[in-house]
Amino acid sequence: MPGRSLEPKALSSPRPGRGAEVTVARGKRAGCGRVTAPSHALYVKTKTSPARRGGHRVTIIGAGIAGARLAYQLRAAGARCEVTVIGEETHAPYNRVLLADVLAGRYAPEVVALPQAPGMRCGVRAVRIDRDARLVVCDDGSLLPYDTLVLATGSNPVLPPLRGLFAAGESELPEGVHAFRTMDDCLALASAARPGVRAVVVGGGLLGVSAARALAARGAQVVLAQQGEYVMERHLDATAAALVRSHLEALGVEVHLECRVRGLTAAQGAHVVELADGYRLDTDIVVLACGVRPRVGLAQAAGLQVARGIVVDDRLCTSDPHIRAIGDCAEHDGIVYGLAGAAIDQADLLARLLTGGPESGPQRGYAGTRALTRLTLPGPSAQSPLDIAAFGQPVPLAGDDVLRLSDATRGIYRKVVLRDDRLIGGILLGDLATIGTLARTWEDDEAIAPDSSPLHLLTHDGGSSS
Ligand SMILES: Cc1cc2nc3c(=O)[nH]c(=O)nc-3n(C[C@H](O)[C@H](O)[C@H](O)COP(=O)(O)OP(=O)(O)OC[C@H]3O[C@@H](n4cnc5c(N)ncnc54)[C@H](O)[C@@H]3O)c2cc1C
Repeated sequence: MPGRSLEPKALSSPRPGRGAEVTVARGKRAGCGRVTAPSHALYVKTKTSPARRGGHRVTIIGAGIAGARLAYQLRAAGARCEVTVIGEETHAPYNRVLLADVLAGRYAPEVVALPQAPGMRCGVRAVRIDRDARLVVCDDGSLLPYDTLVLATGSNPVLPPLRGLFAAGESELPEGVHAFRTMDDCLALASAARPGVRAVVVGGGLLGVSAARALAARGAQVVLAQQGEYVMERHLDATAAALVRSHLEALGVEVHLECRVRGLTAAQGAHVVELADGYRLDTDIVVLACGVRPRVGLAQAAGLQVARGIVVDDRLCTSDPHIRAIGDCAEHDGIVYGLAGAAIDQADLLARLLTGGPESGPQRGYAGTRALTRLTLPGPSAQSPLDIAAFGQPVPLAGDDVLRLSDATRGIYRKVVLRDDRLIGGILLGDLATIGTLARTWEDDEAIAPDSSPLHLLTHDGGSSS
């Protein structure tokens, strides 16, 4: 299977099939601007609603990548069920992966919109699940009945325990301090990030690096404060991270490593970021990019089994057989993926399970997702962009084999980690020519034939997907 692209085309709308209907649960907030019925109208079935004919009602909470994808796949499959999707964000569903490009000014917000199912409700939050009555209670007073409920509630940003982050009794972030998770976060940051504005990004993972390069593209003076020894620790090793750091520096980002932020103070409309070593950074904007946590509050309150995420089995069923969970909020086999590729895989599989596709039999189910994470850092004028692809475990354990190829002058680095005859991790940086072979071997978990040298993984492009 070739490496998956997370550009908008990857999430383009499958052609709608016949038979499925998306029914509107009307409420007082218009959300995406399509529904304006009064709040007392609770649940409206259309004339031809399958529910009237005893059809299955699928209610999806969360209109992010997973929820929107599931709704479209059900429609595309011509599912004879009545689908209702609610999403708390007021924007029409969009591809969250591309928010950094919106922040950088590369894409307008409408370019990253996901295709909408008719009647999808934005700006409505589910506040309670009544499992006995099989009803979802929404913040606009509407009640959504379900036969199958799908939780696709995604993640919340982790807000680090910084002294002074919240004023006493406040739960809102102070003015000038932003998370980077939603379109609203992105638009607020974009309007604050004028040329010359000072910005401190707290956290040097994929999210922090993406935010830092986007703010730099807007002309902000950016400091990236990373607590760990190198940037993107979850995806890269020290060598690759050093190349990324140089690239960020060439974009004008000042990178501080092993730098723990301890507190924040507001001073005359600006902020002072206090570091653990006593150093203080004056800034206008602070971006908190300290990871995410699965959003499990609704599931927990409803008494579903929750570990780090909402626990699901191979059929993406929670501890209640009428409730499924997909995407960032779900935990399968001890893993919370937090990746768009997994959200898409799970949504696609669940659509097949709910429509009686080939995977609906007892023998098939979700077996995990093996997706590459890809990122492109634009280059400063004289330099080309830096392409990054990473997957699995990039840092070997004792006994693993490591193959590396590096060209420091050209900023190229390739590495794979092998355990026995399997590829368990890798990094490509600067030149993704071998991505095709590598992605196929990784995503299909192919054994490396004993008579073939694994060096081909670093040198062969057996059909690039890039
Ligand atoms: C800036 C950024 C860059 C990223 N880059 C990458 C990348 O390069 N590669 C990658 O694989 N992943 C990336 N990710 C992660 C990826 O976006 C997520 O894995 C993906 O969005 C998960 O999809 P989801 O539908 O599960 O959750 P989400 O996209 O978070 O959607 C969940 C939705 O549910 C809504 N919701 C939650 N609770 C309720 C409720 N009670 N009622 C109604 N609605 C509710 C939320 O408001 C949200 O809109 C990135 C994320 C960000 C923020």
